[in-house]
Amino acid sequence: MDAKEYLGEPRALISREALLQNAALLRHTIGENTRICAMIKADAYGHGADIVIDTLCNQAMLTLGRPAVDAVAVASIDEAGMLPAVNCPVIIFRPIENVYLGQQRMLLEAAIRNGWVLTICSASVAEDVARIAMQCQKQAIVQVMIDTGMTRSGVDIAELDHVVMTILTSPSLRLYGLCTHFASSETPGDLFTKLQFKRFSDATDELLKHEQLRPSAIIRHVANSGGVFFLPSSHLDMVRPGISLYGIDPSGRPSPERALRPAMKWTAPLLMVRDVRKGQGVGYGQTWHAPRDTRIGLVPVGYADGYLRSFSNRAVMMVAGQSAPVVGRVSMDLTTIDLANVPHANIGDEVTILDDDPLSPASVYQLSDWADTIPYEVFCRIGRRVHRVAVGDIRPRKAPGTPSSEPTA
Ligand SMILES: *Cc1c(COP(=O)(O)O)cnc(C)c1O
Repeated sequence: MDAKEYLGEPRALISREALLQNAALLRHTIGENTRICAMIKADAYGHGADIVIDTLCNQAMLTLGRPAVDAVAVASIDEAGMLPAVNCPVIIFRPIENVYLGQQRMLLEAAIRNGWVLTICSASVAEDVARIAMQCQKQAIVQVMIDTGMTRSGVDIAELDHVVMTILTSPSLRLYGLCTHFASSETPGDLFTKLQFKRFSDATDELLKHEQLRPSAIIRHVANSGGVFFLPSSHLDMVRPGISLYGIDPSGRPSPERALRPAMKWTAPLLMVRDVRKGQGVGYGQTWHAPRDTRIGLVPVGYADGYLRSFSNRAVMMVAGQSAPVVGRVSMDLTTIDLANVPHANIGDEVTILDDDPLSPASVYQLSDWADTIPYEVFCRIGRRVHRVAVGDIRPRKAPGTPSSEPTA
């Protein structure tokens, strides 16, 4: 995909450099002995899983000589099926559930054949998956999610032994890993996170003493972005960053301590500019009346594109480096902005809807505040009509001894 494509349309520009820089910062934070599993569920938090995989796996091979991440993870088997080919483990986090195994038989068989890691939370599911894998004449690769206090998915610690022994005694299953998920790791120093980690360590240390397990072959992973930065002891064998990979601080505020760089900039061209007189009403419900003569710009995005209706009369967009307040209601396909600060703005000028500068008045942090939500949700809502376009010049690292393509005079 070329950045020139879709010029003149709403685009989410995804910076390859920012993605690689964030991955490098994560690598630096965890050290060389811990793997990175890139969380690319929900189309890579709205950034486009194909672009993110291509950048972190293929492009990184060219520039660094190795992929920037060691595994990728999605929520569902469906999502895994939509990924481009990737040369590392693919983990599916939604727990496999017996009740649906009948209807989902084909999906599950495909997942087993593709070697995707399946998440198991009970012994009876382990038995069912083992039976299906046996019938496919394949080994299913599985991990066990342990509930340590999140009270969402996961096996209770009291049941853990039983589940793991069921897996170990099934020749058609291979145990890939043991994991848990934090409930409040975005708060530095959070005590509940420490308690969850202690419960996980105690339970799994005990288990790994078992002689049937080769501890070195079992990957223990617990840390999301919050865990990576705020509880270093939780890094273990692998970490699972999502939001930080996309350049957003897990604390929900930009942090001067961490050089994370937002990877997405959402833009659209100014579609129309019109003069309005003092007192003139704008948009559905006429919720805004011009307090003075001014110029109104029309931007071709609306709530159908994930530009939330709650941004109406609150958010700002950026035009030529100046802020242009959203005035009137955001409608399904169009939004109006006040161009009072940008007298020279013209049709065709680029409007920044979501800025990649973390300190911009149109940053994702600001947008999520205006909509009373979190950056994760703002990203995930960005609709299909917005073209995801990779930007950034990634130069292949020249292999040593390769002749230069420059003429040598
Ligand atoms: C989404 C998710 C993550 C990533 O969380 P971030 O806060 O985005 O880093 C990690 N683990 C699991 C199980 C998840 O579902």
